[in-house]
Amino acid sequence: MTEFKLTAENYYTQEANRHYLSKSVFTDFEKCEAAALAKMNGEWNPKTDETPLLVGNFVHSYFESEEAHQKFLNQTTSDGKTIRQKMISQSGKTKGQTKAAFKIAEQMIDRLTGDEAFNQLYVPGEKEVIVTGDIHGIQWMGKIDSLDLENEFFYDIKTSKDLHSGAWIKTEDGRNQKVPFVQGFGYDIQMAIYRELIRQTFGVICQPLIFAVSKQTPSELMGITFDGDDEQAMLSAALDYVEEKQPHIKAVIDGIEKPVGCGMCEYCRSKSTISTNLIGATQIKLS
Ligand SMILES: [Zn+2]
Repeated sequence: MTEFKLTAENYYTQEANRHYLSKSVFTDFEKCEAAALAKMNGEWNPKTDETPLLVGNFVHSYFESEEAHQKFLNQTTSDGKTIRQKMISQSGKTKGQTKAAFKIAEQMIDRLTGDEAFNQLYVPGEKEVIVTGDIHGIQWMGKIDSLDLENEFFYDIKTSKDLHSGAWIKTEDGRNQKVPFVQGFGYDIQMAIYRELIRQTFGVICQPLIFAVSKQTPSELMGITFDGDDEQAMLSAALDYVEEKQPHIKAVIDGIEKPVGCGMCEYCRSKSTISTNLIGATQIKLS
């Protein structure tokens, strides 16, 4: 390992990603290795709508501290506008008003602020704690939303469109399968990794608790614990899954193995050519 020192300032940089695996990088590589590698090497920037990410960060920074929230609002985005400016509608009938997605974000904050369990558990914990560790020979990093070492819990806020609709994943044999919210977004992997990184960083085994809040009006609130036998088994299965998948991901990041493209995502679409995608038996010779 080189001299790189992980800090709050460089946590979200590609340099950090080259030294430590994280849940988001692991998930990116699982979706499409070619796209994930191009993103990591700065060769490609996805054009996806950033609103869901901004709404999530809006809620997280609010509960981190007043200072963190103001810093988030004053941050400039790729188009030169601050988040505060981007939250306001610029045209049409709603001009000058807060955009719908951020009205819902404010409402999500109100719902959480009024919740007894959330106030007693999440609010007092230490926020945005960086943890690192060795998972089966590979360095990982994580950022804990709220950590309570004394009571041996860590908390994570998850914002989602709807807490009941689940998510589609691709199975090993290529089928699409609908699974509950927690597995669908890889939160089982994240919670298993975070528990292990907290253990290695602080020597305390903490249990995860997800505070899920839906992007609906009114928002639904749900507390998801992992202390049952089934959930504990789910967390160990998630770590086994990481152990199986990560050697190839790390080898692709290090340039030892070649990335495999999914052939369907935004990145793969941009790289598609007629000559490599000819369907049927006709062979065409290009000069
Ligand atoms: Zn792809």
